Amino acid sequence: MLDITTPIQFVKGVGPKKAAALAKAGIRTVYDLLLYLPFRYEDRSRRLKVAELEAGQEATVEVVVQSLHIRKTRRRNFTLVEMMGKDETGSVKAVWFNQDYLKDTLTQGRKVLLFGKFERSGFSLFPEVTNPQFEVVDSSGEDAPTHAGRIVPVYERIGAMSPKVLRRVLHFLVVGMPRNVPELLPDDIRSRHELPTHAEALEKVHFPDEGSELDLYARFRAPAQRRLIFEELFVFFLAQGLRRARNQELPKRRSFRVDDRIREVVRKILPFRLTGAQREVLKVIAEDLESTVPMRRLVQGDVGSGKTIVGVLASVIVIENGAQVAFMVPTELLAEQHFQNIHRLLEPAGIEVALLSSRLKKADRDARVAAIAAGDVDLVVGTHALIQEDVSFKELGLAIIDEQHRFGVVQRAELRQKGYGCDLLFMTATPIPRSLAMSLYGDLDNSVLDELPPGRPTIRTERVSSGHIDRVFRTIEAEIAAGHQVYYVCPLVEESEKMDLKAAVERYESLAKGVLRHRRVALVHGRVAPPEREEVMAAFRSGAVDLLVATSVVEVGVDVPNATLIVIEHAERFGLSQLHQLRGRVGRGTAPSTAILLTYDPTTDEAEKRLAAMLETNDGFVIAERDLGIRGPGEYFGTRQSGTPLFRIADFSRDRQILEEAKREASFFLRSAESRTPSGQRLLRQVIDQWGERFDLVEAG
Ligand code: ADP
Ligand code: MG
Repeated sequence: MLDITTPIQFVKGVGPKKAAALAKAGIRTVYDLLLYLPFRYEDRSRRLKVAELEAGQEATVEVVVQSLHIRKTRRRNFTLVEMMGKDETGSVKAVWFNQDYLKDTLTQGRKVLLFGKFERSGFSLFPEVTNPQFEVVDSSGEDAPTHAGRIVPVYERIGAMSPKVLRRVLHFLVVGMPRNVPELLPDDIRSRHELPTHAEALEKVHFPDEGSELDLYARFRAPAQRRLIFEELFVFFLAQGLRRARNQELPKRRSFRVDDRIREVVRKILPFRLTGAQREVLKVIAEDLESTVPMRRLVQGDVGSGKTIVGVLASVIVIENGAQVAFMVPTELLAEQHFQNIHRLLEPAGIEVALLSSRLKKADRDARVAAIAAGDVDLVVGTHALIQEDVSFKELGLAIIDEQHRFGVVQRAELRQKGYGCDLLFMTATPIPRSLAMSLYGDLDNSVLDELPPGRPTIRTERVSSGHIDRVFRTIEAEIAAGHQVYYVCPLVEESEKMDLKAAVERYESLAKGVLRHRRVALVHGRVAPPEREEVMAAFRSGAVDLLVATSVVEVGVDVPNATLIVIEHAERFGLSQLHQLRGRVGRGTAPSTAILLTYDPTTDEAEKRLAAMLETNDGFVIAERDLGIRGPGEYFGTRQSGTPLFRIADFSRDRQILEEAKREASFFLRSAESRTPSGQRLLRQVIDQWGERFDLVEAG
């Protein structure tokens, strides 16, 4: 009897090698695999007789294997497997490429189900099917066919586990469904929303009943799917409710007050007039800081809206009250830049700012860590390394998490632990539509910076197709001749980092030694060693470099006001919010700025939509809405660093209605007497056990 905790290796048909591949994908137990859902379904239930097959039709036929030949083709290493099969009404031919091993499976006289698109060419006597899915029908007829003759699930391959192997293993699990599949949803909620049990949902989501409407499945509205979506969202909102409640109960801390002296310091260091939005947000933050309830605030603001200074001024309040601040950013590059800016701003006020980089020599690092512990450092800038290891503070009053969407959930959880009790300020550009942010960060207070500093030029966005690349080069030259600086971004696609680096290097060389040889051109990418990378960035910042050829490492937060042109090569390959972030590198000074989207054919429909959105608007919030519409929200909630998406099946845009229902039920449950009964408490404990890490619930205490 299988148990949900049984290691997957012990399941029939898996074994150590496949288990290793599964483990890489985070699947270790029977339950993990049960939660690995198909990404689509195929209706292979259209069982026809051979004589009934019509050309161009997808269908399943059951035939007896007559013969099987392997043919070499003229192309080397390329073989065709040709099988003839027949039923009582006629013969069919099936062809597979390079699958010689089939000769051992499809032996003469065996009964097989073939699923595919049958064609009838002019010269052929039989219907033909190429690369059909097939299943040998057990002669005992006991097993319902797994791969044909029904609605079958299609899985994304996991390493050596083909969709077909996955289907077989999952069928095995579903048939012997473990009895201890946890049931989180209270009965009354299930019945109110007409949702099947968890075990039943898992069964049907993998193997829909005969006659199920595939259309419902395609829209994720089959009862089995609704149940799983509902549960995920219900648990999510429970977790959020628990977190919010916990925030209220955090131990009080001392209040950071703003007095005239602090106002004077702020006036002295402020290099410009704050925008109305910045002033509003700061006012709210100042109130948070004064209150003894620890702050948990998210500030959303478009690229260039001036989030940094808001964080810096909040820091000043805390520091002038005698406590310390940790300012965290996702990359070393940004840490370096923020350190320089913040240091420059705060030094005149006698505030001690330090950079804690993972690259410091041990002795230097030790000294700095000691200074932080002793309270000699007021503000520390660093990456998430700050929350790891041995760094402790004399009195940490405020932690600022910049570009928070780039931090993984696990890192956020660590931070919550480290900063337990201190004020937390999250800052993020706008990859998330406002409405969604409310749902996703419902446990945080939200503020929005919806105003750009005055005098910002609008950024003109232009699309140029690769055939006109020479014109782009001339534009670059003209921009540099006018005394400005330029970014040239080359794509970095994960599948082949090497190739892309090569492309970037080639582009760099063709520019540096070709059309722009009289200009100062520099190259920076992920493989450039950090010290050197910083040198290049510093040179660019100081104006000593005219053109910076880069891979997307410049994406986040780099601030060089004299840069007025950015060229994004292969713009069709970038995600929408990434394009918007890149565009935000220019238009930071007062001179008119341009973003050129250099595209190569062919493009996909989605790419066209992204490009159209870029040409249409500069507003990050609109871009975020558009992005959500184009690709769904999966990635917003993905934690790229840790690799586990927040949701397995729920989708914030597709499932808005279920989301509302789940949210209502969760808040109702938390307020109800039921949540305090033993079974209610058990449910909440289960939520924390099962989902705590995922939903960032594991806070110290
Ligand atoms: P982001 O919100 O993208 O992090 P930054 O904080 O990097 O934006 O600010 C972008 C640029 O705008 C910086 O050069 C910053 O000095 C400048 N800036 C911010 N606020 C103002 C303001 N109120 N007036 C003028 N310039 C400002
Ligand atoms: Mg920023």
